[in-house]
Amino acid sequence: MQCSTFDKKSTLDKSTFQAALIRQWQRFGLSSAQEMTPHQWWKAISSALSELIPLSTQQNRANSSTNNQRHVNYISMEFLIGRLTANNLLNLGWYDDVQAYLAEDGIILSDLLEEETDPALGNGGLGRLAACFLDSMATLNQPAIGYGLNYQYGLFRQSFEHCQQMEAPDDWERDTYPWFHHNAQLKVDVSLGGEIVTTADGHETWVPAFTLIGEAWDLPVIGYGNGVTQPLRLWQATYDNPFDLSLFNDGQFLHAEQQGIEAASLTKVLYPNDNHQAGKRLRLMQQYFQCACAIADILRRHKQMKRKIEELPRYEVIQLNDTHPTIAIPEMMRLLLDEYLLDWESAWEITGKTFAYTNHTLLPEGLERWDEQLLSELLPRHHRIIQEINLRFKKTVDQIWPDNQQIWDKLAVIHDNQIRMANLCVVACFAINGVAALHSSLIVTDLFPEYYQLWPAKFHNVTNGVTPRRWLRHCNPALSSLIDQTLDREWVNDLDALKQLEPYADDSAFCDTYRTIKQENKIRLSNYVNKVMGLKIDPHAIFDIQIKRLHEYKRQHLNLLHILSLYRQIQENPALDIHPRVFLFGAKAAPGYYLAKNIISAINYAAEKINHDPIVRDRIKIAFIPDYNVSTAELMIPAADVSEQISTAGKEASGTGNMKLALNGALTIGTLDGANVEIAEQVGNDNIFIFGNTVEEAKALLSNHYNPQDVLQQDQHLKGILDALANGEFSHGNTHAFDLMLHSLIDAGDPYLVLADFASYNHAHKQIDALYRDTQRWTRSTVLNTARMGKFSSDRTIQDYQQRIWKAK
Ligand SMILES: *Cc1c(COP(=O)(O)O)cnc(C)c1O
Repeated sequence: MQCSTFDKKSTLDKSTFQAALIRQWQRFGLSSAQEMTPHQWWKAISSALSELIPLSTQQNRANSSTNNQRHVNYISMEFLIGRLTANNLLNLGWYDDVQAYLAEDGIILSDLLEEETDPALGNGGLGRLAACFLDSMATLNQPAIGYGLNYQYGLFRQSFEHCQQMEAPDDWERDTYPWFHHNAQLKVDVSLGGEIVTTADGHETWVPAFTLIGEAWDLPVIGYGNGVTQPLRLWQATYDNPFDLSLFNDGQFLHAEQQGIEAASLTKVLYPNDNHQAGKRLRLMQQYFQCACAIADILRRHKQMKRKIEELPRYEVIQLNDTHPTIAIPEMMRLLLDEYLLDWESAWEITGKTFAYTNHTLLPEGLERWDEQLLSELLPRHHRIIQEINLRFKKTVDQIWPDNQQIWDKLAVIHDNQIRMANLCVVACFAINGVAALHSSLIVTDLFPEYYQLWPAKFHNVTNGVTPRRWLRHCNPALSSLIDQTLDREWVNDLDALKQLEPYADDSAFCDTYRTIKQENKIRLSNYVNKVMGLKIDPHAIFDIQIKRLHEYKRQHLNLLHILSLYRQIQENPALDIHPRVFLFGAKAAPGYYLAKNIISAINYAAEKINHDPIVRDRIKIAFIPDYNVSTAELMIPAADVSEQISTAGKEASGTGNMKLALNGALTIGTLDGANVEIAEQVGNDNIFIFGNTVEEAKALLSNHYNPQDVLQQDQHLKGILDALANGEFSHGNTHAFDLMLHSLIDAGDPYLVLADFASYNHAHKQIDALYRDTQRWTRSTVLNTARMGKFSSDRTIQDYQQRIWKAK
């Protein structure tokens, strides 16, 4: 093994750090550092660092007239950033210094880092992707701002009571979060409601009913080892005059106060749906509020640089993370028409060259539609603009498909009194991309074939990625230092370097160390499970992990059926020879998604029974870890032997959990869906367990009268499992405990093909059991997974966006 020859670490001067720290405990009103509680220590360190980093580095650079690189504005309703202090220390290169300075006072840095509440300002993959992209853009020196909302309550906290999911509000204490910088001079006025009036000169203008204030709260996004810091700008709603005294006299003060309440409620809470639209008025208000603030900020910067409005697309690109921020498009049009007084054609050209859209789902319930009535009440001028976009687009369609109502019904932006946000994006944006090769091809063939015929050059693929800083360097320090010692070059911002590990898959010393590290990570997770759940799990068992939002299409219930199959096999043959396995789950269900919650309860009931059944003799165990979030992901991923990526083919756009797990040396059991296809290409078919119906086969099944009853007639073993669930065997005799899940699987036609894929899934699991017993071959495969996952760095993803979409370099 070679020693590392690189050293990119910058240093933090001890006296500078200590002086900053002193200012912090003085601010707490204490007379010495020793008086601080652990939580105060975390806050003091974070505040001190936050003062020491040059927040404006990137902004100054982007603002300098010598820099002509196109600036990226990444608008997303969600940024699932996770804890920041450790990651920031790591990217700054100050982790070891701070650790050493604190150790002198007997303070253990890693303990303090556990004091940070995990800012959960997102639901799942989409929000986490946005966070990985910010990290990569800063690391690659791509000038960028992330625009989002500063929710007072993030995604709910989850616990289990009597096997059921309980939800509690997630107050993450944003008002005292030390990494925030309130950018007071960037206040934005945002108006809502009212009506359109025609002025004397024939112009239409909007006279809104009320106006709120958007405050800018910036978090620093720090590049890895390059001195770059740029903002994640989260907008928070307030109202200027909670008590407007002039209205007080008129007896209208109640009305004004109500507005104040409404304003504060706007950014109070994140909607907890993943891949599902709620269609609520407050949600539309959130969307508009965020977009109005972001667009105002972008135009302010452009103006400040003394650039002409026509030059906007040359200097700025706006990337929409799914359709949630689509209302930014008519907002840009409104400002160009009504404030900049451009004609329609000029405004449309500028807008069209500035916006790009990323599609994240093909699921119909994920595709946003807004009621025209609702939108016109809140945003009458935007409604008018969308109607105009629709009318003009109809002319284009009529030229290509004259008198074809059927085509127009598919392509129209407004249809059936609903505004289709994805259609609006495709019509307005210069680029549309999917998030994995398979997904991007399905966009073109299944979702938007006619649009593709109209504008083939607009459509792209950009396969997702994850940041190696958080998802390897930070979460798996032992493996990271093994890689440091093995490679002769920096890999943390050059993940393709991991290819150099390939030969070590046959190096027994390396493999022993690699396996020891996995074992230690498994012990660390076992301790956590014991601490939070009071459950003892054996770190020598196979750790088989499924972590992701709870959704029918992700098929946690397929995983459950396999576990119940093993349980039945043990009941039928108590001597069954299988390597011990622990099935670990982490998943939140949207509070209103009853079927998903029913699946959670089924897994928890099964855990209760199986974990305590003496006949099992600990060969199988189930641990549903509560409150899955970025922090628990960081603990579970390095400890995984098996990664469950078992969505119905065609339903998962990409997945990114699959990438994090494979990078950390878990072997994937997965369908040919999303990025699994590309992971299989990279790691090789011998190092992944692919099963189940393909997209084509799944389509054929569902269009050829697939009937789950036929599967059950052929498979008495599977039928016995479903009967046991229905008979109350796992639910203390309650025969209705799993009605929702069983109804979907049997009577509702099994739309996600769980039963259709069951046999093939079980077969793949048998292969896993066999391979795991061959320690050498298993380890070889896991090392090759790590070595071959370089493609899935979000640095590569951002470079793809730069080359294919942003033309930023
Ligand atoms: C990566 C990640 C996800 C996405 O997981 P998928 O398996 O791709 O759905 C969701 N939540 C958290 C906390 C994550 O870190």
